[in-house]
Amino acid sequence: MPRMEKRGKRVLVTGASRGIGRAVALELAAMGFEIGLNFRSNEAAAEETRAASEAAGGSAVLLPFDVADEPGARAVLEAEVEERGAFWGVVLNAGITADGPLAGMSSSAWSDVLRTNLDGFYNVIQPLMLPMVRLRDGGRIVTMGSVSGVVGNRGQVNYSASKAGLMGATRALAREVGKRRITVNCVAPGFIETDMLSGLPGEELAKLVPLKRLGQPEEVAALVGFLFSDKAGYITAQVLGIDGGMT
Ligand code: NDP
Repeated sequence: MPRMEKRGKRVLVTGASRGIGRAVALELAAMGFEIGLNFRSNEAAAEETRAASEAAGGSAVLLPFDVADEPGARAVLEAEVEERGAFWGVVLNAGITADGPLAGMSSSAWSDVLRTNLDGFYNVIQPLMLPMVRLRDGGRIVTMGSVSGVVGNRGQVNYSASKAGLMGATRALAREVGKRRITVNCVAPGFIETDMLSGLPGEELAKLVPLKRLGQPEEVAALVGFLFSDKAGYITAQVLGIDGGMT
């Protein structure tokens, strides 16, 4: 069955307990991948995603750690690779915001966002890179950017910087590992209806979008699923917008 083409391959999805990460985990589980399901603190939500991933036809193990914590992430990931084998793919999705104008921005709002969204790239992908290469089976890495990293967004100097940095890291890594048949791409969503937008005026945001609506996590997950399919094997070093026409 086409939906089961990836049976036996392992994929790590960071920030998979809720929102876009959860939808991505379910999409990849339905393709037959074995999911390593990372989250930071919301174990109940992660457990729901695990159960839903199994119902979708895949399997999933919970891997709680903070992507901003370099030694902590490395310890969990190295132990996991040692126990169950290398990951064939990674979706670097975990991310946070701490919005406000730069003039009033605290240093912790700056550094928390950069440490999670950008340092997370090194903390998660570096320990997994060599084991992935040693599989000698190609591979897939998708990072979660943002329209904010493409065009910049008022009140998000920290977040825009972190996502623009992520795009640079993505393009550079793609060039390093292309000869290994590992593709590395960035998906850059616009406004997607998740907890991250809670408290923001959805109807007002929708007016800024040419398609006049917010996106759904499942729509982003479908794009990630395509990038993980064999059909996407010639796409690498790209930033793919999924933003209702905002960019
Ligand atoms: P949510 O806030 O809905 O979910 C965030 C997820 O990330 C949760 O699973 C959370 O885990 C996890 N997480 C947060 N910080 C860490 C951390 N330090 N270590 C490990 N896991 C962590 O976010 P979205 O689903 O909306 O966003 C997902 C990604 O998409 C982010 O990178 C975001 O920047 C990006 N994005 C989102 C857009 C949107 O409009 N929603 C637009 C453009 C990009 P826990 O449940 O344990 O807290």
